[in-house]
Amino acid sequence: MGGEATLAQIADEVRVCTRCALAKRRTHAVPGEGNVLSDVLLVGEGPGAREDHTGRPFVGPAGQLLSELLGAIGWQRADVFITNVVKCRPPSNRDPEPVEIAACASYLDAQERALDPAVVVTLGRHSLQRYLPGARIGAVHGQLRRSYSGQHVFPMYHPAAALHQASLRETLFRDIRGLPAALLDARRALDEERAAAVQAEAMAAPVPYPEPVTDDAEQMTLF
Ligand code: URA
Ligand code: SF4
Repeated sequence: MGGEATLAQIADEVRVCTRCALAKRRTHAVPGEGNVLSDVLLVGEGPGAREDHTGRPFVGPAGQLLSELLGAIGWQRADVFITNVVKCRPPSNRDPEPVEIAACASYLDAQERALDPAVVVTLGRHSLQRYLPGARIGAVHGQLRRSYSGQHVFPMYHPAAALHQASLRETLFRDIRGLPAALLDARRALDEERAAAVQAEAMAAPVPYPEPVTDDAEQMTLF
């Protein structure tokens, strides 16, 4: 199955999922959306009120700021894939609980496998913890990092945080301006690693032993 069909199937499963308590009070689950061929996956925290009503990620005030941020580097929502750590809205926008994040994790795992992005942009704390456990956003924001499993991760503050704390707005714009270069760095590193893996495989392959020379005429020339 291609990436697009796999992502559509994951979305179908998410829409009827009852694996955790968040299913009870949702209007719509929000599987995620965007360009299935994109090298960039954005991962937020969880749906808010507007997302719960529409079934689409980042369509409220935080989403408006996210669109502006992408616009600052000449990108659009349709250029990237956008999803969340939990696919159903936590009541009153409370933080998702560890048990809910764990219940939902396999959907994001499957989305990552289908998309195979060069870079994962984490938006906010919960997304950051999934990829870089223990990392502090204040120390790593705007810098390309690698997760234990080798994924390239570009941590950013959550756009909603800038709606409450104006100084973060500038930080978000400064950070996202570094994203195109981070994407190029990640792609280069991945290309080099793939080339090295191909070479290592070729070196490991058995080399055919040369045929012994039996031609008399050629043997004669040795003396
Ligand atoms: N905040 C998030 O983390 N995700 C959304 O989809 C919307 C707001
Ligand atoms: Fe299922 Fe995730 Fe929604 Fe919980 S948050 S019901 S695990 S889709």
